[in-house]
Order: sequence, then C-alpha cells, then structure tokens
Amino acid sequence: MDRLSPRGATRASAREPAFAAELRAAVRGEVRERESLARYSTYRIGGPATVLLPAAAEDVAVALRLAAAAGVPWFAVGLGSNILLPDEGLDALVVRVGKGLDALVPDGGRWSIGAGLPAPHAARRTAEQGFAGLHIFVGVPGTVGGGVYMNAGCHGSDWSEVVESVTTVDGSGNDRTWSRAEIPFTYRRSGLSGQLVLGTVVRLRAEDPAKITAELGEMYRWRRDGTPFNQPCCGSVFKNPGGPSWKQTEGPRTAGQLIEAVGLKGARVGAAEVSPVHANYFINTGGATAADVRGLIERAQREVEARFGARLEPEVKLIGRWGEYLNPEAPNG
Ligand SMILES: Cc1cc2nc3c(=O)[nH]c(=O)nc-3n(C[C@H](O)[C@H](O)[C@H](O)COP(=O)(O)OP(=O)(O)OC[C@H]3O[C@@H](n4cnc5c(N)ncnc54)[C@H](O)[C@@H]3O)c2cc1C
Repeated sequence: MDRLSPRGATRASAREPAFAAELRAAVRGEVRERESLARYSTYRIGGPATVLLPAAAEDVAVALRLAAAAGVPWFAVGLGSNILLPDEGLDALVVRVGKGLDALVPDGGRWSIGAGLPAPHAARRTAEQGFAGLHIFVGVPGTVGGGVYMNAGCHGSDWSEVVESVTTVDGSGNDRTWSRAEIPFTYRRSGLSGQLVLGTVVRLRAEDPAKITAELGEMYRWRRDGTPFNQPCCGSVFKNPGGPSWKQTEGPRTAGQLIEAVGLKGARVGAAEVSPVHANYFINTGGATAADVRGLIERAQREVEARFGARLEPEVKLIGRWGEYLNPEAPNG
C-alpha cells in the first residue's frame, strides 16, 4: 500500500508480501518477514519489520536497488546499541549488517574490517596480534559499521583517528570507497548520511601485545563496573548539555549528574528505569516499550529543565516507522 510521505512523494511499505517475495528471490541472504526488531536492539525494544540478513555486500546493493525501484525506504541496523525502534515496527526495509559482512583481514598495520563485525571483537582480535588503536572500543557494544557511521568514541579517541578509507553503498545500490580526507568526520558524526557502510580499512600502531591487552582489560573493567553494561540499554541517553544557553559552572554538569540531582535514579515509566548505577543510562527492566523509554526521557527533560534550566537533548536516535530520525539533531540524524 502506498502512503504519502511528508515531502509529498509516495512511499511503499517493506511489509508488503510482494516486496518481500521479490527481495527473497533476488538475494542469497535471508529475508525475514514480521520479524521482531527487539531481537536487533540492545534495548530489546521494537515491533515487527521485514529484515534482510545479507550474505554478502552484493545482497545489500541488490536490495537497495530493489527498494528504490519499489519506493520502499531502508534502514541500516548493526547491533542496535544506539537506537530506540518504534513499538509499531518499521515499514522501511531493515538491512541488518552482521555475519556475511564481518571479515577481518590484516596487512601489516592496515586492517580491512567488514562493517558487521562487533567492535569489541575487532578490539580484542587486533590487540591480541599486537596492534593498538581499536582496543579502546572493547566496551562499545556496536558493530564496526555503526561505529564508523556514528564516529563512536571513548577514552579520548574515536573512529576518525584510525580510519584510512570506508566503503559504502548508497540508496541507488552504487558503491564507493571514500578516503579519510573525503569523510567529514566531526564529533559523533561521519557525515555519511544516506550511505550504508560495508567496511573500512584502518591504520593501527604496532605495540607490545601484553601492554595493549592489559590496557584493554583495564578499559573493559572500567566499563563493567561503572555502567549497567550487561543490561538492556543503549548507552548514554542524553548528550551532556553545553552551549551558550547554559553556563552552569558549579554543581552537577553532566547529563547523568543532572538527572541524579533531581532524584531520578531508579525512577520508572512502565518497565523503563533510570539506572541506579548510572543516571544517563535507562534500562529495560523487562517488557519496556519505546513509549515507556520516551516517557522517561520526557520526564528527565522536564525535571532537569525546571530545576537547572538546562535542556537535555537525546543522544540515542529515536526512529520513526519509516526509518526516519525523529530527533534529527542527534548524531548523524
Ligand atoms: C552499554 C553501552 C555503552 C556505549 N558506549 C559508547 C561509547 O563509549 N561511545 C560511543 O560513541 N557510543 C557508545 N554506545 C553507543 C553505541 O554502542 C555506538 O554508537 C555504536 O557505534 C553503534 O553501533 P551499532 O552497530 O549498534 O549501531 P546501531 O545502533 O545499529 O545504529 C546506530 C546508527 O548507525 C546507523 N548504522 C548502523 N550500522 C550502519 C552501517 N553499516 N551503515 C550505515 N549506517 C549504519 C543506523 O542506521 C543508526 O542510525 C554505547 C552503547 C551501549 C549499549
């Protein structure tokens, strides 16, 4: 069924059985209909959608071409560790980048890595071989593709510091390799909107494997002990406030400190809870909906703004049913 998009063009839904059948016939990978997206997000939240699990890069190009021809929007998902997917599911075609696109090939200090490899695996495997640079991502539970797309970072570094090139495919199914200089990386943004990341080549530093793995172990423990690491969540819910509209220099400053200061640690809306461990992490305690998490987001925004005059902006990407970003100011929204 065609629907009118906000721009007036018609969009078709990937949920149409005819679209799924055509896609299934065209790819080697798997096409799953009415698949619960909760399986593909670390929040364990999200309604049904048509999901493609590509077997190789060609499947992605074929699928995006088919989707374009049918007027079906698409949405890339890695490990779903930075997104809140809608309870009603998605009408966009979900391309889940994982196995099949997860090769790791070393060539001296240059490593070619598929977008579907979990970043913590890339961190451990490169560190074991005596290469530093990716080891910092041991506690960032996303894929390499999601990390590059988001320019994820921690411990004072980010993907832009190691990337040499990135290979993508666009909505017309055309692939392209971008050199580092061509990618407009900024804080938590790659500027690669409209592109699906297939893989990257990174340049790493050779170091003593024992030293790197010791550092990696320390970083992992820091994560494990300071955040609700193994519970269903999406990392930091809000960006830290800043900018000219908010100049507080004393008292609570970070998003987590502000939420804690208004007494919301442990607060709940439905089954979504402000983590008692770290107030900028919201947890799905079991059966939470996207509406619960959004309710908790709004409550924290309201109470922090009323007391401190600071407007908290979500860092997590809130996704609409066509795969659109409901908070386009979020990184790479
Ligand atoms: C416990 C925890 C700790 C975290 N700590 C950090 C941290 O320290 N630093 C940090 O930066 N982030 C952190 N995050 C957030 C998150 O892990 C990162 O942003 C991660 O890089 C997202 O990768 P993903 O594969 O899960 O992406 P997803 O959540 O699946 O997607 C995020 C965005 O990237 C897009 N995307 C995903 N894959 C691709 C692709 N192959 N091509 C194009 N677009 C793609 C999606 O469409 C979406 O817009 C944390 C999350 C959790 C749960």
